[in-house]
Amino acid sequence: MSGASPMMADGEQIEVGWGERRVIARLERTHRRVLRIDVQPSGKVVVIAPAGEARSDIQDRVNRKGSWVFREIDRISARPVSTPERRFISGETHLLLGRQYRLSIEESNDPQVRVEGARLRILARRADDQAHCRRLMTAFYAITAKSVFAERLEAVAPPFIRKGLKIPVLIVRPMSKRWGSLTPKGRIVLNVDLVRAGPSLIDYVICHELAHSFHPDHGEEWRGLFDMVMSDWQSRKAQLEALLR
Ligand SMILES: [Zn+2]
Repeated sequence: MSGASPMMADGEQIEVGWGERRVIARLERTHRRVLRIDVQPSGKVVVIAPAGEARSDIQDRVNRKGSWVFREIDRISARPVSTPERRFISGETHLLLGRQYRLSIEESNDPQVRVEGARLRILARRADDQAHCRRLMTAFYAITAKSVFAERLEAVAPPFIRKGLKIPVLIVRPMSKRWGSLTPKGRIVLNVDLVRAGPSLIDYVICHELAHSFHPDHGEEWRGLFDMVMSDWQSRKAQLEALLR
């Protein structure tokens, strides 16, 4: 296993060392009294330390965690890298709702995409027309996303509805940099690409946004509400980041 190279981040930083290895972590402060170290799915390390704690004390505690930090970094770097560019040819794998499907492309005068067992069957006018196949898949993903996301929204909304929320209008569209957002009018926008993730990760994104209808920023109150509704959201967040890169 190769050593992780130091990674730079803006703001306060702290070095984590273990044997010969070094990594630069971002240092954040919290009102909580516990020191926490996060190795993110990207391999970046974040140290979250109590607001008043002296740097030398933080450094001591971080050093004691060195072996754990580098084990995590190695675990992450051993994971398969992100999905290669799709070419829409038979045999290629595609994700749908968190499961991998193998593509089979056949010619047909009735173009469509069908799920059959572990296969995604693309019935295309011309099997070698990749742009056509891509359009069929995009349309299929969009239709599936709309119905599944609406279902998941209904499923996770009750705790928010009990707090006075009305089920928001749902918009599904491609988004380049985020999984979801909440518009100023309270509409929930979800990235169509999220249809590649499993329902529990779709639920995580929806709850993240619904919690924003009560608390616009990611402050303590937003966190408190999110923790209450979905106690394991941090692990779902990490899974989503690892799955769809
Ligand atoms: Zn947010």
